[in-house]
Amino acid sequence: MIRMQEVKTENPFEIAQAQIDGVGRRMKLDPGLLDVLKWPSRELTVNFPVKMDDGTIRVFTGYRVQYNQVLGPFKGGIRYHPDVTLDEVRALAAWMTWKCAVIGLPYGGAKGGIICNPKEMSPRELERLTRRFTSEISIIIGPHKDIPAPDVYTDPQVMAWIMDTYSMNEGYSVPGVVTGKPLVVGGSKGREEATSRGVMYSTRVVAEHLRIDLSKATIAVQGYGNVGSHAARLFHEECGSSIVAVSDSRGGIQNPNGLDPEKVRLHKAKTGSVVGYPKSDPLTNEELLELKCDILVPSALEGAIAEDNAPHVKSKVVSEGANGPTTLEADEILFKRGITVIPDILCNAGGVTVSYFEWVQDLQHFFWTADQVKKQLEEVMVGATERVWETAKKEKVDMRTAAYIVALEKIVEAYRVRGIFP
Ligand code: NAD
Repeated sequence: MIRMQEVKTENPFEIAQAQIDGVGRRMKLDPGLLDVLKWPSRELTVNFPVKMDDGTIRVFTGYRVQYNQVLGPFKGGIRYHPDVTLDEVRALAAWMTWKCAVIGLPYGGAKGGIICNPKEMSPRELERLTRRFTSEISIIIGPHKDIPAPDVYTDPQVMAWIMDTYSMNEGYSVPGVVTGKPLVVGGSKGREEATSRGVMYSTRVVAEHLRIDLSKATIAVQGYGNVGSHAARLFHEECGSSIVAVSDSRGGIQNPNGLDPEKVRLHKAKTGSVVGYPKSDPLTNEELLELKCDILVPSALEGAIAEDNAPHVKSKVVSEGANGPTTLEADEILFKRGITVIPDILCNAGGVTVSYFEWVQDLQHFFWTADQVKKQLEEVMVGATERVWETAKKEKVDMRTAAYIVALEKIVEAYRVRGIFP
């Protein structure tokens, strides 16, 4: 268990720092090196103008935080959300660093974000926002430097604009500068569902160890975006699990006999929300998190499971589709209550893993079949989950601490052989 009781905070970066501090001290890391790991190596803040459709000019603030690159080029998504803060982006960049390390990818960690509300912007405005932001951060990104990807409210179209803008500035097409692109401009087969497929593979390994039969399991999914909706579908289609509740920012729906994830997705595509789906009863997001089920898959934003609701979580496993959905206090409560949390840096790493496959394909200009992607992803996710599970058993810790131990061992070894420059 990462013990950080003296830190009571909902600030995601303070949580990220406390997590690394807790594990680093447990591993008796050199205090100087631990300090290195507690801070981002580079942060870029940009304030930039965008011409809106009505002719007015609005200034937006965006960030790119490059956390650590000891294992390879920086890698991490870009988020568009009104609540983006520098500390949130720092935390997400830190988690990307540990995520790439625990999975064994040759990447460091980064993250980006723009404070904006994409729901209130037209596609033309979003395009201008994206292209200007890309230009602003192009001094630090590149296929061998820092490779962005999608995150909350950014999608393959946004990635295509990033790729195009960077390429136009370079004077030739550079597909490897960003991942999560549409197939036609160098995307990878299987990228869209990759995070969710990884959640499923990782959960399957843990369920086997806990003797939970996924074909009979009930599953609740918070957040019905990219991660949540594909996770619900994959658990249903490939494991035969019953999806008993799902939610999005407007509320949730439940059916104890199981929902049809694909039909729910179509309903959301048509109406903008899962709410109102026929053959379901409404429930609130709070109720969903406390629903009796076998597997809970938080797939929305940070801090969904906190001190107040953790005592009421009734699932056997929490599979963290989202980044940082469980606060430090909640982690401790869930651990004491015997609930297994598959930590974000492991559980949702399928996305960055297939992003890595996409980048490799782009650099080689040679593309894989969907089956190759699935097979390689399964191998990576199962291997990493087994490694973390074994470490947890050996060290008698929860899976989050174990994942951090696996990640930090790799990073520390890289620092040992590379040394501290100069
Ligand atoms: P998304 O924008 O596609 O979906 C987010 C969903 O969460 C939407 O359905 C939204 O309505 C819902 N939501 C927002 N606030 C909510 C609330 N308070 N309660 C319930 N639902 C709420 O984003 P995404 O790409 O699916 O990302 C979701 C999470 O997964 C984020 O934490 C992200 O960092 C993480 N993640 C995403 C990827 C990826 O490949 N997309 C990879 C790893 C981790």
